[in-house]
Amino acid sequence: MDVTLIGGGIAGLALAHQLVPDHDVTVLEASPGPRGGGYMIDFFGPGYVAAERMGLIEELRSRGHVFEGIRYAAPDGTETGRIDVGPLARATGGRYFSILRPEVELGLLAQLPASVQLRYSARAVALRQTGLRGAGAPTRALVELADGTEISADLVIACDGVRSLAREIVAPGHGGILPMGYRVASYLYEDPGLAAELGERLLITDTVGRVGWAYAADAARVGVMLAERVDPALTQRPTPDRERLQRDFAGLHPQVDRALVHAPESFYDDLVAQSVAPRWSNGRVVLAGDAAHAPSLLAGQGTSLAIAGAEALARSLRATGPHLEAGLAEYERRWRSTVEAVQRSGRRSASFFTPSSPLQLRLQQIGRRAIGVPGVSRLVARSLVR
Ligand SMILES: Cc1cc2nc3c(=O)[nH]c(=O)nc-3n(C[C@H](O)[C@H](O)[C@H](O)COP(=O)(O)OP(=O)(O)OC[C@H]3O[C@@H](n4cnc5c(N)ncnc54)[C@H](O)[C@@H]3O)c2cc1C
Repeated sequence: MDVTLIGGGIAGLALAHQLVPDHDVTVLEASPGPRGGGYMIDFFGPGYVAAERMGLIEELRSRGHVFEGIRYAAPDGTETGRIDVGPLARATGGRYFSILRPEVELGLLAQLPASVQLRYSARAVALRQTGLRGAGAPTRALVELADGTEISADLVIACDGVRSLAREIVAPGHGGILPMGYRVASYLYEDPGLAAELGERLLITDTVGRVGWAYAADAARVGVMLAERVDPALTQRPTPDRERLQRDFAGLHPQVDRALVHAPESFYDDLVAQSVAPRWSNGRVVLAGDAAHAPSLLAGQGTSLAIAGAEALARSLRATGPHLEAGLAEYERRWRSTVEAVQRSGRRSASFFTPSSPLQLRLQQIGRRAIGVPGVSRLVARSLVR
């Protein structure tokens, strides 16, 4: 088949890797090159297992790192708690590491078979299906690009993220995002001095309404993530504004203040949101990754699910050969219950992400102390991995 993927992010590149032995694969990516922005993710669970089967795990592991854990601190710099990563790493049998989102993308690119046609600066603006034979199924899907050209394919896989242009076509009424009441900004910048100070622990500020994260991405770079509560009715993508970021997040912690001085002009800035669709395919168009099932940052598994879901889709298509409809149905049957469980856990943890009051902050601090007790930490780690 001619398969066109919209989006060369994590799901798109993982899928291209898996589809290319059997199909002619074109990837359309809107950005002019690999995307640099983004945050540090914990990589474990279904994505890790899928990456092992795909032969990609060594490439990804070599770009990742295992931190000692988290250090919590108050605005005056005083440490207020610690969580070690050891129990989580042990509960996964060592199949766990942290990695920057852009490094996942670069790792997938490094292993991308040469026959994949990867087109940067190729933004899809519209999608339609043709060849409807009476009430029968469409025979082609057509993608229109911003430059006015059109690409015809046997199958279009939308890997274009949580704000997918295809979701409304596949599942009318579900094109929008489901915001979770948070907005998150993140960036990386060069600062060997602060990276050395941050060392092997991720710093999270113990603050109300807004929270800052800072970590050593490597020996030279610092990663920063800044999250705040916002009106859950907002759906429009916010516009990154460096001055606003510096003003609104000042005073969370002395090290976050230092990192704020270096906020770049352009950075990742979006609402924390999920996407849900009661069906993932319609005719010759299918959704994958965040376009189908974004679990949100709160579930901490978006990248893992994007990779594992890509593998599930490719395997289903392989298993059913020319019977496309059966392959797409098998993908949902195989994969939907896993992503729905992760999405539910993301919704459950939503109210804890950033404490809304001093009382909630206090309760979280008490909860953290309990997690520090060895038996409890093992239980929490096991439930996370499940
Ligand atoms: C630069 C970047 C930074 C991110 N940082 C964070 C973060 O800090 N916190 C967080 O929670 N999540 C972040 N995410 C989302 C996170 O990476 C995803 O949840 C997860 O990796 C799932 O991957 P995905 O491939 O399904 O979606 P994504 O990683 O979002 O990839 C979608 C890709 O599709 C491309 N695309 C979108 N629309 C079109 C179009 N019309 N035509 C062609 N290409 C298109 C995008 O440029 C992107 O490369 C970030 C995503 C990106 C692209």
